[in-house]
Amino acid sequence: MTSLGLGSVLHFGNSIGASYFGRSSSMLLCHRRKRFSSSPLITMAQQANEQLLVVVGGGASGVYASLRAKFIAPHLNVLVIEKGKPLAKVKISGGGRCNVTNGLFFDSAGLADNYPRGNRELRGSFFNIHGPKDTIRWFSDRGVELKTEEDGRVFPVSNSSASIVDCLLSEAKSRGVVLQIGKTVSDVSLIDGEQFLLKVEKRTMNFVEYIKADYVLMATGSSQQGYKIAAQLGHSIIDPVPSLFTFKIEDTQLPSLSGVTFPRVKAKLKLKSIQKNLPEYTQVGPMLVTHWGLSGPVILRLSAWGARELFLSNYTGILLVDFVPDIHLEDVKYILCQHKDQLAKTKACNSFPTKFNLVKRFWRYLLEREGLDADILWASISNNHLNSIALLLKQCPFGIAGKGQFKDEFVTAGGVPLSEVSINTMESKMRPNLFFAGEILNVDGITGGFNFQNAWSGGYIAGTRIGELASRQPVKGNSVKET
Ligand SMILES: Cc1cc2nc3c(=O)[nH]c(=O)nc-3n(C[C@H](O)[C@H](O)[C@H](O)COP(=O)(O)OP(=O)(O)OC[C@H]3O[C@@H](n4cnc5c(N)ncnc54)[C@H](O)[C@@H]3O)c2cc1C
Repeated sequence: MTSLGLGSVLHFGNSIGASYFGRSSSMLLCHRRKRFSSSPLITMAQQANEQLLVVVGGGASGVYASLRAKFIAPHLNVLVIEKGKPLAKVKISGGGRCNVTNGLFFDSAGLADNYPRGNRELRGSFFNIHGPKDTIRWFSDRGVELKTEEDGRVFPVSNSSASIVDCLLSEAKSRGVVLQIGKTVSDVSLIDGEQFLLKVEKRTMNFVEYIKADYVLMATGSSQQGYKIAAQLGHSIIDPVPSLFTFKIEDTQLPSLSGVTFPRVKAKLKLKSIQKNLPEYTQVGPMLVTHWGLSGPVILRLSAWGARELFLSNYTGILLVDFVPDIHLEDVKYILCQHKDQLAKTKACNSFPTKFNLVKRFWRYLLEREGLDADILWASISNNHLNSIALLLKQCPFGIAGKGQFKDEFVTAGGVPLSEVSINTMESKMRPNLFFAGEILNVDGITGGFNFQNAWSGGYIAGTRIGELASRQPVKGNSVKET
């Protein structure tokens, strides 16, 4: 058991301070403040034969799980402890619109393919139990209509993440889930190998309380504290590294293209590392030039699939971009030669083959990269230069000099390995009654709503199982453990 420092305050029982919302049950009203003493810990929950689930983290997965657990077992006391603001990431997600899920993939295997970490493990029951269709129904049943955009991303019709946040919080309030904010769970230990003892601290005060829980759900996202607690409880942690970020590119001319979007490029990542045989990743899709590098779906997807290798390479390497992926190299050369023949007397900077579907600014950039004067006539461009331009169009190399310095990382790869939890229940294989959901696990998706879907699915599955266990154990001490 964790010891308290001198002068610390011990709250006995499942005491609740200022709660964000929530019905006060007898257990939750217990609010005794004492100097540290050696008296045994007692809880009102125990006295009343009630059970308590503590959800650590009031993000998407934690709140969703708490609602599901309370739905299955309305008598279960459910307490969500959140160190900051609840659902803070939901609020800022999707540029304030919240990309709730993805509507393109309804089969489990197709959906799982969008998870660089998790694609093998999530192919089975995970999304079958609660997939995107279930998420969409869950919100629409509660009055939040969602729409699917052309690329599959699903947003609230209101185009405001507040619709999602408000729905989840009002649902929690009406179901009697208690949410405490501004409190951090800093330690979780075991009592008699059965129950959990959570140490809860408040940053602003010299405040410590202990809470005894029957079930604990770790839904702490990418927080270091969450990983530390999981490790204390016997889990291994796969080193967390950022995923979903943009690339800083070493190229002084590139900023001239800032704001240019390429609707469809094929980009291949080649990394430098002391490690041999690093895999190469290729993605096709839109790419955007920023004032300091490259961004857009194709880049974010490459950063996700190559997250670990990019980390190992210290975010350096080469990106080869094919700007005309549907035209073969030989055809590109032929088209350029034809253009030269037909527009020999035209300035190269003013005319280029329309088949390439390029913007003028990019064409000028290519000429500059090739060392050609913008005013050169097509007739004066040598065939060698034309071949080089064709190669630039098909395999334009960009030196990656780092990852985006802004807070554009959306998600963290790494965390508790999926092999250490039962995917059907999200229960730890190391500790009964300990559960995990969301980003704390070694699961992350590419952009498009997949990361929230992981949070909803994991939260739903964990909440269901906890609710079922609580329903099977009406009287404390008479455990009927399912085998
Ligand atoms: C800017 C941004 C935009 C995004 N947009 C999208 C999007 O549109 N679509 C999408 O699918 N994904 C998006 N994501 C990713 C998505 O937000 C996460 O994958 C998702 O929030 C993970 O949910 P979670 O519940 O696991 O973790 P979180 O949402 O991170 O919640 C964890 C919570 O636990 C709390 N916590 C941590 N440690 C403790 C502790 N010790 N005690 C108490 N509380 C604790 C944290 O304060 C946090 O509130 C976005 C992410 C970012 C950063």
